[in-house]
Amino acid sequence: MATLNYLLEELVTANRILAREGVVDSFGHVSVRHPDNPQHYLLSRSRAPDRIEKDDIIEFTLDGTPVDAKGRAPYLERFIHGALFEARPDVMSVVHNHSESVIPFGVTAAKIKPIFHMGASIGHDVPVWDSHDHFGDTALLVENMEMGRDLAKLMGKGATALMRGHGATVVGRNIRHAVFISVYLEVNARLQKQAMDMAGGSQQVKFLTPGEVDKVAGRTGSYGINRAWENWCARAGRPFQDEQA
Ligand SMILES: [Zn+2]
Repeated sequence: MATLNYLLEELVTANRILAREGVVDSFGHVSVRHPDNPQHYLLSRSRAPDRIEKDDIIEFTLDGTPVDAKGRAPYLERFIHGALFEARPDVMSVVHNHSESVIPFGVTAAKIKPIFHMGASIGHDVPVWDSHDHFGDTALLVENMEMGRDLAKLMGKGATALMRGHGATVVGRNIRHAVFISVYLEVNARLQKQAMDMAGGSQQVKFLTPGEVDKVAGRTGSYGINRAWENWCARAGRPFQDEQA
């Protein structure tokens, strides 16, 4: 069982890695379910991911209420995290980002699909959540539980969802898994755009087959993820911790 201190360190590292790898900029966030209370989660105060320290991390109830904010301002979009932890007992970590290369796939008919083996974990079908469908003209932000639950419902059992004109949300079985998928969602989007440009549209692009997606995703475990994690830790200037299950 992962300890609280281990997860706080992991969360700081995850924020720094997401920033270093170009998944988040001054915005975007990553959370983890509380190890001692599955009805709570841990998420930084409102701060750019590359600046986050352990003392910035706040404990929240699933409805987004801080347990003890100590004067720290929370992220407006924290409801994404609570709604997914509420809907998905299998989810231990959530990443929300405005990853640049994925944005075009949320506003056009081009569907993002696994184009190379590292992209298999994004899933067969990446749905696009359009806040306008149920909420009309908004500031695009997920700023209450109703919007968060609507996003979680569209995401279903999947690992990823794009958000029209906004970004993406990714879930994982632990922090490293959610970060891994987030990094490769961004890379997949970039490569898919290149392939579509070369081929003159997605019709001429050979994507992974459904069977290949299942086989690759099925063997994406600690062996591969920790290899990436150690490298990303070094690039982000963070210590690599032994993994706690
Ligand atoms: Zn956002």
